[in-house]
Amino acid sequence: MPAPLNNKTDDPLHDAFDSKIAVHAMPRGESIRPDELPALWAGVTAAEDGLPIRTIYVHIPFCENHCVFCGFYRNAYRSDLAKQYVAALIQEMELTARAPFMSAHPFHAVYFGGGTPTALPAESLTGLVSTVKTLFPLSNDCEITLEGRIYNLTKKKIEGALSAGINRFSLGVQTFDTRIRKRLGRRDPREKVIETLTYLRDLGKAAVIIDLIYGLPGQSLEIWEDDIKAFLSLELDGCDLYQLNVFRGGPLEKSVAKGSLPRPATLKEQADYYVRGVERMEAAHYRRLSLAHWARISRERSLYNLFSRGRSDCVPLGSGAGGWLKNYFFFVEGDLKEYLRAIKAGKKPLSFGMRRAQRDFLFRDISYQMELGYCDLEALSKRHDLDLLTILRPIISQWEKVRLIKRTDGCLYLTRPGEFWSVNLAQMLIDRLQEG
Ligand code: SF4
Repeated sequence: MPAPLNNKTDDPLHDAFDSKIAVHAMPRGESIRPDELPALWAGVTAAEDGLPIRTIYVHIPFCENHCVFCGFYRNAYRSDLAKQYVAALIQEMELTARAPFMSAHPFHAVYFGGGTPTALPAESLTGLVSTVKTLFPLSNDCEITLEGRIYNLTKKKIEGALSAGINRFSLGVQTFDTRIRKRLGRRDPREKVIETLTYLRDLGKAAVIIDLIYGLPGQSLEIWEDDIKAFLSLELDGCDLYQLNVFRGGPLEKSVAKGSLPRPATLKEQADYYVRGVERMEAAHYRRLSLAHWARISRERSLYNLFSRGRSDCVPLGSGAGGWLKNYFFFVEGDLKEYLRAIKAGKKPLSFGMRRAQRDFLFRDISYQMELGYCDLEALSKRHDLDLLTILRPIISQWEKVRLIKRTDGCLYLTRPGEFWSVNLAQMLIDRLQEG
């Protein structure tokens, strides 16, 4: 639930809310008992049907080290364990691909995420990508993304991944500043980051996207500008500009409390970093694919991310993967030992699930549109047979008053402050509609 709106503010960018939701806006869902999951999965995948837009998410739950700011770290990379994992993952792919559901429509995007998929050796990467391509029907223009980091991203791995069919690299750079990188557990200096990205770009065989984070400890507004400048000078295909989230009880919070790291930017400061990022990307004529994601040329499509926010099915593969299939969310066992045990027993290791909330497609439409900077309540009212403008009028009037949105007929457009608070706003709409 978002913090209440400060409806008296004259400075909505800095003061509209006291806190910001860290994840995507989503409805409250009903969880499913773990013992019900195998039968549900079997039922859902038994028919040759499903949504025409579909994706595959493959999770690689290893990292070479735990970066101080990260809340997604699960397992330290060990070559013997990774080898065992890759063999099990291929078994899971074979088991999953047999179901009739998988051949109903081609998949439009495959995403190898983590963790750090690029921690795996070249042969493993090639093997996994080739297995997906062999077992699942992919569309002719399927986007196949390999997520990773610069550290240990060797030419051999890059070439292996490209030869297997990877056509998009999404690399976490976070900052080019060597001092901050080292403090946060990013091992390579600026020069190495630039060298690897230049190599990838000059190969010209895949879209190259990087993530940058604003608000990191020690990252002044000038350093943030320099990060964006360094990105722009590389002429890559696109980038995500993310806000730092400080995970409660995580290594970053502890290091700041101990005094071993300077404090990260406050939320008010982050708002300024956000605006500066948008201004710089707009001035460089980058195209906005979502509020956080920018493309230089149309080779960058960001299909997996866009589809997963909208109406699509997603097949989850690998320990820690999750995805919506028809009316259910399935999460694959995140505990590595349990995962390996279940695969050995010939089972799809599912550990958690959720049922789609009533009107979930409406909430998805709202969340998707808000990520693009608008919400067309008039069109959504027709599509979902509900008078959204009337139901949401009190909220919308407050937002207009404090200049978080502008309204043209039945469509809301986020102002710059509204963009910064978009997740809170989307969650408020969903919460109001779930109240009934
Ligand atoms: S930032 Fe990436 S490499 Fe670092 S711990 Fe998180 S998932 Fe692993």
